Amino acid sequence: MTFANDIEFARLMDEKDPLRVYRDEFLFPTRGGSDAIYFAGNSLGLQPRTVGGYLLEELGEWAKLGVEGHFQARHPWLLYHEFVTDMMARLVGATPLEVVAMNSLTVNLHLMLVSFYKPTKERYKILIESDAFPSDRYAVNSQVKLHGYDPQDAVLELKPREGETCLNYDDIEQFIEKHGDEIALVLLGDVNYLTGQAFDLGRIAFAAHEKGCVFGVNLAHGAGNLRLNLHGDEVDFGVWCSYKYLNAGPGGIAGCFVHEKYADAFDLPRLAGWWGHNKETRFEMGKEFDPSPGAEGWQLSNPPIFQLAALRASLEVFDKASMTAVRKKSVLLTGYLEFLLNSIPKDFCTIVTPSDPDQRGAQLSLKVGKQAPQLVRQFRDNGVICDFREPDIVRVAPAPLYCSFYDVYKFGLVMNKFANS
Ligand SMILES: *Cc1c(COP(=O)(O)O)cnc(C)c1O
Repeated sequence: MTFANDIEFARLMDEKDPLRVYRDEFLFPTRGGSDAIYFAGNSLGLQPRTVGGYLLEELGEWAKLGVEGHFQARHPWLLYHEFVTDMMARLVGATPLEVVAMNSLTVNLHLMLVSFYKPTKERYKILIESDAFPSDRYAVNSQVKLHGYDPQDAVLELKPREGETCLNYDDIEQFIEKHGDEIALVLLGDVNYLTGQAFDLGRIAFAAHEKGCVFGVNLAHGAGNLRLNLHGDEVDFGVWCSYKYLNAGPGGIAGCFVHEKYADAFDLPRLAGWWGHNKETRFEMGKEFDPSPGAEGWQLSNPPIFQLAALRASLEVFDKASMTAVRKKSVLLTGYLEFLLNSIPKDFCTIVTPSDPDQRGAQLSLKVGKQAPQLVRQFRDNGVICDFREPDIVRVAPAPLYCSFYDVYKFGLVMNKFANS
């Protein structure tokens, strides 16, 4: 694709965009009377128009039916989490048995660590990224401590090379090859939240498994962003939130993937709750926990129906648009953003995200140095919403379901103006 830095080109790309109709299915914050340039979908996705109706429907059922809503609502609450299972499975490349919507992201990560981090005397370490999301690090450190180890010793970090920001595959593989015998678990973000680097999960799963390590993935920045194939890539477990690219609303209910090979692994240690109990006999209120097969067996509580309703609405949009089409547009949209940034003559920011589209999703991370506060002000004054991470990284993520090439073009103008001010 040859891009051009002019408004006609951006307009033409929008006209040709098969997903352009989806923009209208989302509610945009406005700035100065028009839609904001919303490039923060990696932080909080916009609200699908259908969400309000779905929530009202459940409020209505509750008003009308009370407790009977569990069975008699149009979408019975007893089964509600199952209404998102197939869509979620398609989204992450899994079988329905392998996924469940439950809890929130960090809770799910803990539940998975309880089951899949099984340290032994020889093999007790966890390998993470040096710039792992703080919550992931806290979760890992606390689990390690729970087993009586010292995070200083038991948590290993993959670091970029001197002077680089992203990880190098050869380094990852060599590290696992060298230290794998001591590593119980490799845990990566499938797109790093800070740098935007995306990993080939199949390749890392292979390296981890060769050395007998479990491979878990945090898909907070991958779900709804990349085409995923968790089953085929042999990822052992995965967790994600639904409020970023998945547009299911602030604090939305999270997702969890457990590979089919563990569907009947009832001997794995796990924290149990009644919703994970075999559905046939759950309401017999027995004393023995009899887990459901597959990911559902990790559920604890009866789930929040309003959050599930919002997730159902948002997943339907993805299902209709198809992740293949979303990703196809994303490569072009982010490629256009990269092109425009690179065509700014002044060297005032560095794109730290890899330029290979296979190694990134929608997000570009820009290192902006000391000018960060001025740039953030420039964004605010020009109707741009994107996010800033200390000390000097601006993350820009045009979400393909609702962002246009024209948005990207306008963002380029704002950056150009800033560079020349
Ligand atoms: C967004 C994000 C989180 C947030 O965790 P919550 O439990 O949803 O608050 C954790 N880890 C990563 C990698 C994230 O990107």
